[in-house]
Amino acid sequence: MVPDIFHRDFTPTPYWWEAYGPTTGELVDLPRVARVAIVGGGYAGLSVALELAKHGIDAVVLEANELGFGASTRNGGAVSGGVNIGKSFTGRTADVEPERAERLLSDASDAFALIDRLINEENIDCFWEKPGRFVGAWTKKHFDVQTRRLAVLNSASQSGAYMVPRGRQREEIASDYYFGGMVVERSGKLHPALYYKGLLEACRRRGVAVCAKALVTGIRRAGAEWRVEATRGTVLAGDVVIATNGYTGGLTPGLRRRVVPVASHIIATEEVPQDLVRSLIPKGRTLSDTKRVLCYYRTSPDGRRIVFGGRARFTQVDPTVSAPILHRYMTDRFPQLRGAKITHAWTGNVAFTLDALPHMGQRDGLHYCLGCNGSGVAMMTYLGWQTARKIAVAANYACSFDTEEFPDHPLYSGNPWFLPVVGGYYRLRDNLDRLVG
Ligand SMILES: Cc1cc2nc3c(=O)[nH]c(=O)nc-3n(C[C@H](O)[C@H](O)[C@H](O)COP(=O)(O)OP(=O)(O)OC[C@H]3O[C@@H](n4cnc5c(N)ncnc54)[C@H](O)[C@@H]3O)c2cc1C
Repeated sequence: MVPDIFHRDFTPTPYWWEAYGPTTGELVDLPRVARVAIVGGGYAGLSVALELAKHGIDAVVLEANELGFGASTRNGGAVSGGVNIGKSFTGRTADVEPERAERLLSDASDAFALIDRLINEENIDCFWEKPGRFVGAWTKKHFDVQTRRLAVLNSASQSGAYMVPRGRQREEIASDYYFGGMVVERSGKLHPALYYKGLLEACRRRGVAVCAKALVTGIRRAGAEWRVEATRGTVLAGDVVIATNGYTGGLTPGLRRRVVPVASHIIATEEVPQDLVRSLIPKGRTLSDTKRVLCYYRTSPDGRRIVFGGRARFTQVDPTVSAPILHRYMTDRFPQLRGAKITHAWTGNVAFTLDALPHMGQRDGLHYCLGCNGSGVAMMTYLGWQTARKIAVAANYACSFDTEEFPDHPLYSGNPWFLPVVGGYYRLRDNLDRLVG
């Protein structure tokens, strides 16, 4: 029987939307001409526009839905200064030369510096804090793998990472669920929807046209320019940037077959005593783990709730389906929260790539920044910023995420029918891993 976990005020919308919810705002008309047209109005799209504006280049952001509809107001708000260079979505190990791996880590570290700077420069009030992250090891073997990664993490991305053995784990988390884990000091957390709102306001202050309800339906060459057709009008642009991440559709089939949209789900508990919350995560760090079906969690900015996310299912399901699963995952880690009811449950799409790396570049003449692989608050902001600097010819070095290789697979054309199978397999592998240690 499903326990009664739903609070009487339960709503299937993000907790974050209580502070800022996606809105069309005053519907801004589409300009007929813009130097750059950006498809997708999440962190990546806004970041492109903001940086272009700083270089005096006018851009229009075309968003299919309300502003903030995508993952950018739905995520967990954990901000990483790293990038996962390891197993790809298909299970293959990404073939990354050690030298390139160091450059990728170094650029990921710059992404963290960028978001820190941006929040300060634009005075974005989004509960930005840098308490660090604890990544719990699901098995002893995972702990050993984490230990081996420490040196490169600290040298290439100044992560301030160190291992916490199982015997001292309770300094990080009031649970014995893990076999110890890794602390990454250089990571942070924020209120994702307020960060989004701050970026949006920064764009508006600079006169950027950010257009809601402008689904782009076609992009065609028109001489030296691009004709960008949207439901509310047509824009002639010199450059086009695709920033649609986990919502990439048939508009760009060549990109669609290079990203796999995977659902991620989150719940927020009702308010519980602050002392309890503080006792569960004493240092206020963000938490995640090394499981294939990983979970990520944190305290709410007011310290009254636990916000708990994970891949309850790999596809979009109704929040009333994902919430009981996440509640169970949460109480497996924190039995102390058994009585806590759920007030919010929601879902959103992330974009995985076949080599597990984020990508920016140009394809068929269109710029793109895509493939957050589940961690994109800093990274997608950064790729947007790098793309803008490339267009403005202001970048003084080539970003390591900007390569011509963006792998696809002959059997994948953009329909991720296999996700439920992958999800089941990952759950099985997690259980087996724990059994064999
Ligand atoms: C539940 C969840 C939890 C997450 N937790 C974290 C976390 O804790 N830390 C972290 O770093 N990352 C996290 N992420 C990932 C992070 O949210 C994303 O990487 C990031 O928001 C992606 O930003 P974006 O601008 O690339 O895409 P999005 O914010 O998804 O925006 C893409 C936009 O493109 C629009 N679009 C698509 N097609 C068209 C079209 N044809 N015309 C016009 N517009 C179009 C969509 O409507 C959408 O709004 C999480 C994601 C989810 C879903």
